[in-house]
Amino acid sequence: MAKKQFKSESKRLLDLMINSIYTNRDIFLREIISNASDAIDKLCFKSLTDQNVGMSREDFKIEIGTDKENRTITVSDNGIGMDEDDLENNLGVIASSGSYKFKQEMDKDDKEDIDIIGQFGVGFYSAFMVAKEITVITKKYGSDKAYKWQSTGADGYTIEECDKDTVGTQIIMKLKDNTDEENYDEYLEQYKLSSLIKKYSDYIHYPIEMEMKKSRVKEDSKDKEHPEYEDYYEKETLNSMVPIWQKPKKDVTEEEYNNFYMEKFMDYNPPLKVITTSVEGVVTYKAMLFIPSKTPFNYFTKEYKKGLQLYSSGVLIMDNCEDLLPEHFRFVKGVVDSPDVSLNISREMLQQDRVLKQMEKTLEKKIKNELASMLKKDRENYEKFYSAFGVQLKYGCVADYGMHKGELQDLLMFYSAKEKKNITLKEYVENMKEDQKYIYYATGESIESIDRLPVLELLKENDYDILYMTDEVDEFCMQSLREYGEKEIRSVLNDDLGLPEENKEETEEEKSQSEGTINFMKETLGDKVADVVVSKKLKNYPVVLTAKGGVSFEMEKYFAQMNP
Ligand code: ADP
Ligand code: MG
Repeated sequence: MAKKQFKSESKRLLDLMINSIYTNRDIFLREIISNASDAIDKLCFKSLTDQNVGMSREDFKIEIGTDKENRTITVSDNGIGMDEDDLENNLGVIASSGSYKFKQEMDKDDKEDIDIIGQFGVGFYSAFMVAKEITVITKKYGSDKAYKWQSTGADGYTIEECDKDTVGTQIIMKLKDNTDEENYDEYLEQYKLSSLIKKYSDYIHYPIEMEMKKSRVKEDSKDKEHPEYEDYYEKETLNSMVPIWQKPKKDVTEEEYNNFYMEKFMDYNPPLKVITTSVEGVVTYKAMLFIPSKTPFNYFTKEYKKGLQLYSSGVLIMDNCEDLLPEHFRFVKGVVDSPDVSLNISREMLQQDRVLKQMEKTLEKKIKNELASMLKKDRENYEKFYSAFGVQLKYGCVADYGMHKGELQDLLMFYSAKEKKNITLKEYVENMKEDQKYIYYATGESIESIDRLPVLELLKENDYDILYMTDEVDEFCMQSLREYGEKEIRSVLNDDLGLPEENKEETEEEKSQSEGTINFMKETLGDKVADVVVSKKLKNYPVVLTAKGGVSFEMEKYFAQMNP
């Protein structure tokens, strides 16, 4: 039996596409410009082997124009163009991508990779989000005929021959009529268009030019106090073309990095650290990450959004891609640029998820290694980093049942009673006394108040170091870590601190001496305490309050707050 082809309801398919793939109508310009860039890439590539093209890289450009009267936006390129078949196959068939086929051919020949953006064959139709009619006037390289393709969307399209002198393509979009709910006039404003280009297409490799209306003082203006102005037009290149993260590191100055960061991520302060990385393998990407020098004012509020900017070959895909960063590094800012993510990124696409996961994994490792090396080689800056974001690392040790503690524990620092400054757990263990069994920590409101705790007396006497902790999360962090370098971590409130003095047996005489006092205290305090016992941990203080099982008063207070 002959196999029949599925027929798609193209009208419904187109509707579906326009209304569900994209959520933001602004991106139509990005799609049309990306296609123009792809078309130029193709011709530019041809020019490398075909003398007849007669053009060099500098000759290529994309031009944007508007016509307010006719309400049209025109995007012109001098790329490869399309013939009748191309129009039929690429613009007439939804989800057919000439660019994808082109890329496949290239891979076959193992030619040096060129940065073609398109691959899904749906970007073009996004223009119908804002346009009621699209006209494509195009002439293919090597052909002497030009064609006009025209469509009002779902109703279909027409193709006819037309005149066009030069090779390339012109996309003319006639804006939809304004309604009560929607107004499309903004797309005729040069300000709107130039800001869209800056936002989404800043790193397209070819200049994107637009005639910009400007104003200047008239030359024959006589009255110097109140000069007369006149309008004039000037062509301007709106995109900066080469993304800073694509440049070799040695070609970028610290000032450039700083300005890029401050402008893009709206911070008044230069970053504490810039991390650049370039990965090739299962997933290929370049990333440029920043660690802010100060905690953002909204860092601990819901307003703060973790995430990195995601680009596909220089085209912005997502402003804030959360999936690229683990929670414990949510303070990191930056951009990731990968040819492996496509323009129509949408959360539903499984394959994309895999790519993002892969990138997250390698980025996490990179950030961790950079922090570790900063701790080792640049302690002063690490201290700054730690005072801004150290708490986040502690939360990271606790989160997900301590799943990440292995990666994070070496980045932690705590105040050392002996050193009187922050030290790492590793440093603590290295300096432990030979007979010292545990890593000791004490929690409290401030370093000073902790330092006065009676339970510390014996530890200090034995010359053991104690870590002082003042953050709410510290205790949870310690419970999650439990040990470090095979040394158990113990609260100073624990009944058993592993001290030789603790094991001294009480003599009969001592017992009978203290019995009266103990009984008196038990009776007086009643059920305010669980027990009263003779402590072996005291020297100068008469009494000490401890907690069973080493749960601190801070922690008890915390739980009491949670379950009032
Ligand atoms: P994609 O870019 O993902 O391939 P599009 O829907 O954006 O899908 O475009 C479909 C196809 O139409 C492209 O692959 C390309 O072959 C062709 N095309 C679109 N715009 C142009 C243009 N300006 N010049 C030449 N070909 C174009
Ligand atoms: Mg496209």
